[in-house]
Amino acid sequence: MIVFDLSCENKHRFEGWFASNEDFERQLNDRSLTCPLCGNGKVVRLPHASYVNTGSRERPDGTRKLIDHVIETTEDVGAAFPEEARKIHYREAPERHIRGTASPREVEALQDEGIEVVALPIPAHRMGKAH
Ligand SMILES: [Zn+2]
Repeated sequence: MIVFDLSCENKHRFEGWFASNEDFERQLNDRSLTCPLCGNGKVVRLPHASYVNTGSRERPDGTRKLIDHVIETTEDVGAAFPEEARKIHYREAPERHIRGTASPREVEALQDEGIEVVALPIPAHRMGKAH
């Protein structure tokens, strides 16, 4: 299974799970792919987002839920994050969601290259556990 970040014409963002890239293309062409929030059929794929841990302190509940979600759905690549995010962006590595650590300067460099990086305050003890 692969997960794509999708968006409808009304800018609702949601995740779509597909057996393969071909499966995604087929559903898109069939117009069987619709927004779960408004039913809009003009669905587009968003640039890939990777998650980086900035080591900030924990935040209240909303963020913690997102962190749980990220930890469940991403692969931990640790300090190799900047390198791995680049490889995925330039299609040198299999496309997938990753998380890891990077310095603010590295994050800035990735963003300059058009790589979408989401900074999250993932507590250190949560890194490297669940995959
Ligand atoms: Zn929608």
